[in-house]
Amino acid sequence: MEDYPETLMEFEERFATEEACREYLFNIRWPEGFCCPCCKGVKAWITSRYLYKCIRCGFHLSVIADTIFQDTKKPLRLWFHAIWRLTSQKYGANALGLQRVLGLGSYRTAWTWLHKLRRAMVRPDRDRLSGTVQADEAYIGGEKPGKRGRGAAGKALVVVMIEIKDGKIGRIRLKRVADASCLRLEGAIKESVEPASTVHTDGWRGYERLFELGYIHKIVRKDAVVGRNLLPETSRIVALFKRWLLGTYQGRVQPSHLDYYLDEFTFRFNRRTSRSRGKLFYRLVQQAVAINPILGKDIKKCVDYNSNVYGRS
Ligand SMILES: [Zn+2]
Repeated sequence: MEDYPETLMEFEERFATEEACREYLFNIRWPEGFCCPCCKGVKAWITSRYLYKCIRCGFHLSVIADTIFQDTKKPLRLWFHAIWRLTSQKYGANALGLQRVLGLGSYRTAWTWLHKLRRAMVRPDRDRLSGTVQADEAYIGGEKPGKRGRGAAGKALVVVMIEIKDGKIGRIRLKRVADASCLRLEGAIKESVEPASTVHTDGWRGYERLFELGYIHKIVRKDAVVGRNLLPETSRIVALFKRWLLGTYQGRVQPSHLDYYLDEFTFRFNRRTSRSRGKLFYRLVQQAVAINPILGKDIKKCVDYNSNVYGRS
């Protein structure tokens, strides 16, 4: 059963102690009760250091082992606050805001937490889009449209894929690609769209083999310039994404980190009609527990995080 606080008051009352946070993680991680990762034993003692020790094989682990919270030196309550803040605000949170509100000693910690949480926003096994899907590429960064098939300096090329249901936008997927070649575009579509779906694209040759890959391919209109096409829904998503980057991050996102922001935007957008923000909190905690730990060194280096690139409020 999905169990989450609905309001800030409920959140604060519920997660006032470390014990409450641990219990919440326990219930999400082992909804059927403890299960030893070594021997599948279902009974455990709790040690004085809050480790679960398997009665059958003696293996012990904490509830945060093998999750993104592993090895954290900070209280779980702070993590929960970070997740609440990230999910309860429509447009998310930036690192400086998070550092301030949580009283974190370093900007770097807030920045790293946000990046870890963004990683948790994508389930590796998530369903692909299906039915009718619109696909197009767009450049992020820079104002002028760029030519297809070649890179454009300072720009990242992103494939935007959108489910269309009853004429309305359903779920989306955003995937950065190196270029607009067949190989890259087909890779992005295969990863994000179920075969046998109907894919609407323009007449760019990068899409011409979709039929051979098992899709029903409909060409909307021919145009050779990215960013000037008549697939209005994809253009709308790109505009929303750019506006969000500008509003929440002042547009100062390094190209090397763009993938994480695409993931965060997708997470938010696909849950935009969620009745409760608490549900997003629940979903993110659930995914944070389900994915493997992310080491700080695995998050691409924030080359100039001491400069004011991220530091503007
Ligand atoms: Zn065991």
